[in-house]
Amino acid sequence: MTRRLGGGKLVIATHNAGKLREIGALLAPYGIECLSAGALGLPEPAETGTTFVENALIKAHAAAKASQLPALADDSGLSVAALDGRPGVYTADWAERQWFEGPQGRDWYMAMGKVEGMLCELGPQTDRSCWFSCVLAIAWPEGDEAVYEGRIDGTFSWPPRGTMGFGYDPVFVPRGRDVTFAELDPAEKQAMSHRADAFAKLVAANF
Ligand code: IMP
Repeated sequence: MTRRLGGGKLVIATHNAGKLREIGALLAPYGIECLSAGALGLPEPAETGTTFVENALIKAHAAAKASQLPALADDSGLSVAALDGRPGVYTADWAERQWFEGPQGRDWYMAMGKVEGMLCELGPQTDRSCWFSCVLAIAWPEGDEAVYEGRIDGTFSWPPRGTMGFGYDPVFVPRGRDVTFAELDPAEKQAMSHRADAFAKLVAANF
């Protein structure tokens, strides 16, 4: 039988402030005390997996082992159909500049521009369909684990628009809307996002 989360403490295994904010808001109604990996001073493990599931499990197990508490990790990214699903699991890597260090050194405008440049090279009629994926993994110190996957489809839009959200939000227009994630009220993004989709599955299985 799959193990379930009870109340009590849960480590959010991320050093990404945007993810932490969104996961904290999603968990708020469930009487769980969230502790962030950053605040606990936990190290960030290398994301050596080749899938969202592998990387989410690496992060969740590392945090659970180091803290001796259950831990929740998010691995997510943007996949572009015309680029064969890239950047996908390497979404954060495309924003790395060699001469910076740590998450604060990521340049999201450069990363979004790289996607735009590749789409332009394919021609003006290129399909701009894309999707965000999110895998939420829970790991317990004893080694148990559970995984929940979410997705939202949309279009890659250029130039970037909006100031809310984080990461690639300014270039993602969710299907059926004409505004980007960064132009949406955070609660509205929260209600429809890939993270919300994965989270709904987590809630159904645990609460
Ligand atoms: P990772 O999961 O730490 O490998 O990072 C995934 C990257 O994908 C994030 O740092 C963001 O740039 C991007 N990403 C994931 N979810 C979202 C989202 O909800 N909005 C915008 N960008 C996102």
